Amino acid sequence: MNTGETTSLVIVGGGAAGLMAACYAGESGLPCVLIERKHRVGSKLLMCGNGRCNLTTHLRSEAFLSAFGDELADFLRPSIEAFTPHELQSWFKQRGLPLMQTRDGKVFPKSERAPDVVHMFSDRLRDLGVPLCLNAPIKSIVPKKDGFTVSVSAFTLKAANVLVATGGVSYPKTGSVGDGQKMAGELGHRLQPYRPGLVGLEWKTPWLMENSGASFKEATAVIYDGQTRIGTTSGLLECERWGLGGGVISNATRLVARANIKSPRLEIVPHPGAKPLLIDKVKTRPLKEAMVTVGGVDLGDVSAKSMESRVTPGLYFAGEVLDIDGPTGGYNLTAAFATARTAVRAIAGTEGMEAKDRPPTPPRRKARKNMRAAQYRRRRRKG
Ligand SMILES: Cc1cc2nc3c(=O)[nH]c(=O)nc-3n(C[C@H](O)[C@H](O)[C@H](O)COP(=O)(O)OP(=O)(O)OC[C@H]3O[C@@H](n4cnc5c(N)ncnc54)[C@H](O)[C@@H]3O)c2cc1C
Repeated sequence: MNTGETTSLVIVGGGAAGLMAACYAGESGLPCVLIERKHRVGSKLLMCGNGRCNLTTHLRSEAFLSAFGDELADFLRPSIEAFTPHELQSWFKQRGLPLMQTRDGKVFPKSERAPDVVHMFSDRLRDLGVPLCLNAPIKSIVPKKDGFTVSVSAFTLKAANVLVATGGVSYPKTGSVGDGQKMAGELGHRLQPYRPGLVGLEWKTPWLMENSGASFKEATAVIYDGQTRIGTTSGLLECERWGLGGGVISNATRLVARANIKSPRLEIVPHPGAKPLLIDKVKTRPLKEAMVTVGGVDLGDVSAKSMESRVTPGLYFAGEVLDIDGPTGGYNLTAAFATARTAVRAIAGTEGMEAKDRPPTPPRRKARKNMRAAQYRRRRRKG
């Protein structure tokens, strides 16, 4: 198949960023096609928060951004200020997904079911008539004089703009295998090397044998590079058969990866008053098991205000394909959603349109409107 038509936007990847981008484009009336490598959209979303999907946090923008560290916060600021965690919550509620907040400020769907999030997106895309192409890994994106040719093995599409939302490289079975980074690299973008972020630590000691299967809710970890203290994390510590996991460790491994520490040292206190556990040789679990990929398309090659490539005009990036990663707690999904919206807003602008949220009419209001229309018709019939 070869479609002669040119669409305004091809979105590559139906994960968190791609689904949000397609909904926003659809609601704005911006013609777009969403192309997904797997047989279904949102495979990684389904795994999020142990199947409960921690969508975002209760935090305000500045506190949210500061959790990423200065460099990432600067890049994400325009996107997060334009779509704050609070606006994100309203966005989901207006589209029929009730939410709930835990005591520590994490926000989940009220049902605590990740499939409800994916269904919300796919139902909305169907209602908006956004074409969705599954089982279709994009093989190449070729810039042309007036846009791009985007090729899947069975067909090619012409697009004025392309948004790459292909994710990181962890949990490759969910479809995120690094295609977007590879295509960006071929087009001349710089790539930051991949490192596992938010992952467990391999560690075998008599202490672990004694405590295997135990978890500690109030653990803390201090991360050192030589004698220099790099950061502190706190939260749940889980003692696994292979080593240590839980939020306190996941967030510590992300800090280690982000700071590119060659020989990090960790000091872990399992609970207040406990003797610290010292880990001199940090060995993380493999990248494929990480919740987030540190590394990806270099942020220097992408505009923070529009997500447009500085190397290939008309090409945009959103989500984890970029060198963006946050701690656990809804930060990564929020960043994926917000950067996707920035890209769509900018693309709509180049097409002479204004991106707009158009939530569906709530059923009660719709019913009232229908009732009033029926009354009006009856009155007219009576004369
Ligand atoms: C186990 C686990 C739990 C997590 N829990 C949370 C959580 O609770 N809260 C949170 O904020 N974050 C969480 N994360 C992180 C979060 O899931 C990711 O940061 C987020 O999904 C990134 O969104 P994305 O759209 O950039 O990429 P993805 O969601 O990975 O989507 C990328 C999509 O692109 C498709 N694709 C790839 N290549 C191609 C191609 N060539 N052609 C077409 N399509 C392609 C893929 O198939 C995939 O569907 C978790 C991650 C994991 C692994």
